Amino acid sequence: MCRHLGWLGRPRSIAELMLEPPYGLLVQSYAPRRQKYGLLNADGWGVGFFDDDGVARRWRSATPLWGDASFASIAPVLRSGCVVAAVRSATVGMPIEPSASAPFTDGHWLLSHNGRVDRAVLDTAAARAESTVDSALLAATIFERGLDRLGETLRDVAAADPDARLNILAGNGTRLLATTWGDTLSVLAGDDGVVLASEPYDDDPRWRDVPDRHLVEVTGAGVEMMALEGTA
Ligand code: GLN
Repeated sequence: MCRHLGWLGRPRSIAELMLEPPYGLLVQSYAPRRQKYGLLNADGWGVGFFDDDGVARRWRSATPLWGDASFASIAPVLRSGCVVAAVRSATVGMPIEPSASAPFTDGHWLLSHNGRVDRAVLDTAAARAESTVDSALLAATIFERGLDRLGETLRDVAAADPDARLNILAGNGTRLLATTWGDTLSVLAGDDGVVLASEPYDDDPRWRDVPDRHLVEVTGAGVEMMALEGTA
């Protein structure tokens, strides 16, 4: 995915998070402000959230977010306290299909990948991946090794493919985890929750940029940021 967004906090509507902000994912689908790779994100979109019973629910598409009037109609009544959403700019050669749009899931976590990685270094995950897109292989690899080893897994993948870009965003209902490895990420800690986003969705002065090669963890207790060791 080329631009993603996560929310952990009081239940908010999906429209409030994705569609209404002045520079939110809807606008980022045709006019991102900070995207380093690709001009627009028209190859699909997806949103996943945890319902009141903690069940992961997803809605994904292979068409541009700006053209989906049905989603725009329903999004105001979908509410959750833990959301992972993305708009996609497909890497050259990758399939364009709903199952290639983030978020991917193992039933416990929802996960988005902004970047690219050589699929050859992830081939052992192919049987479990939702799609043949590089991001689905990476998601399956991360799920198998466990999210608590996210930093270690990314370092191993980057060692095997030094050109990999590995910005991950994942949520499980009570935690968000995100990494920066080659692309942008910003965090907004507000009064009623925390937003992690590839780029700020408005001009609130509280947005902070996350430095490259860092891991961010958001829980009810707040935001923690740490460097991914062994890197420049
Ligand atoms: N490589 C992924 C894809 O093809 C993500 C692309 C991106 O971040 N722009 O979907």
